[in-house]
Amino acid sequence: MADLILGLGRSGIAVARHLNQRGGRWFCYDDKGLQPWPDDIRNELEKNWFDVAMWSDVDRLVVSPGVPMEHPMLLHARENHVPVISEIEYAFNQAEGPVIAVTGSNGKSTTVTLIHHLLRDGGLNAVLCGNIGDAFTAQLRNESCIYVVEVSSFQLEHIVEFRPKVALLLNVSADHLDRHHSLKAYEDAKFRIFENQSPDDLAIIDTTFRGRSHGQGQTIWVPDLGVGWHDNRFELGSFGSFEMNSVPLLGDHNRLNILFASLAVASLGVPTSQIAHSLASFKGLEHRLETVGTCHGVTWINDSKATNPASTQVAIDAMVNPYVLILGGSDKDTDFRLLNFDVHPPKHIVAYGDTGPKALEQLPGKVRFVADFSEACAAAHALASHGEVVLLSPACASFDQFNNYTERGKRFKQLFQLLECSS
Ligand code: ADP
Repeated sequence: MADLILGLGRSGIAVARHLNQRGGRWFCYDDKGLQPWPDDIRNELEKNWFDVAMWSDVDRLVVSPGVPMEHPMLLHARENHVPVISEIEYAFNQAEGPVIAVTGSNGKSTTVTLIHHLLRDGGLNAVLCGNIGDAFTAQLRNESCIYVVEVSSFQLEHIVEFRPKVALLLNVSADHLDRHHSLKAYEDAKFRIFENQSPDDLAIIDTTFRGRSHGQGQTIWVPDLGVGWHDNRFELGSFGSFEMNSVPLLGDHNRLNILFASLAVASLGVPTSQIAHSLASFKGLEHRLETVGTCHGVTWINDSKATNPASTQVAIDAMVNPYVLILGGSDKDTDFRLLNFDVHPPKHIVAYGDTGPKALEQLPGKVRFVADFSEACAAAHALASHGEVVLLSPACASFDQFNNYTERGKRFKQLFQLLECSS
């Protein structure tokens, strides 16, 4: 009998490597056909390529998150009672040590990175994996350690026994509806993170879901009475509280991420004094409200990861000083009218790229269209005065002028370096 790996992206390849090392029988398949895979596994993948005649040997299918639910091989497996599991389920069954799993529509990467930092800085052995970098399977260790796993709804659709010691649901907003068909189905998939928890486990859940049933784990709602923050004091309910001189990440959404992460690590025994100490050295993630530097008194902030209006909104809400906003990029039916500038109106908006003209049409106030990204950044800098901010938070994907949001953010930072600064 054999495992069949369906989908050979990052997680599928990690499972192939793992099965190969264990020496069991396995097959693999990907609609894209043979690819230039890494040298260490290419021969094995080609040798174990699946053919329909092999179905009778398959006793389990390990599916990658990118494979659609309606894929004919998934349908065949279901009709023939072949169990289907996701890669996190596969890894969970091999893992020694507790799992902290984080899901949500926004803030997952920030929160898992922070949890990992707090655990490591607190002297605990922890690895970071899942959506954010290496697959869970690729990070499996022989010794016991804490697995901090960023989990997508796609991975949760095919779990069986996956049971995090600590499970976090940060938020749910309309996303991936092409795959899940409805917000309810998307939310249901996210809630599966709790389904196998027992009273020894902990569920930390955004308070808007209060009342909704979810597994057997103890529950902390965030925020709640005694769980929240006032200025720089964070309260963690029965775990205590801590004060910070300054909060390392901008915006209330990040305070929420800090709260979630602090509760998770406090539940594993990290003292609040240690959390406060470790938070001070947390740098945040690249391209998410990342402070690039200050030139002639103007601070540049790179939020290139904000590829939809919802994430640009949290950046707008995080602004304290007057700011010039750069937005625009490629079009996915972006509606700029979703942005609310009532509380933090920008001094000026510079709209660039394919969606620039639409922004000009849809947005109120002072909006200037500059087609080219680099020129738009220069224009924004010229419009900002001493003590003000140039904020790149585009609300759009980057594909009109870049390969991805990372390249756009790097270009922004490079343009900052090219400014001639004496201060
Ligand atoms: P994810 O991994 O879920 O995509 P990231 O941490 O990479 O999350 O952040 C993605 C975008 O969402 C960024 O633009 C960030 O500013 C914004 N964001 C981060 N945390 C939150 C939150 N708690 N609520 C809403 N938006 C958030």
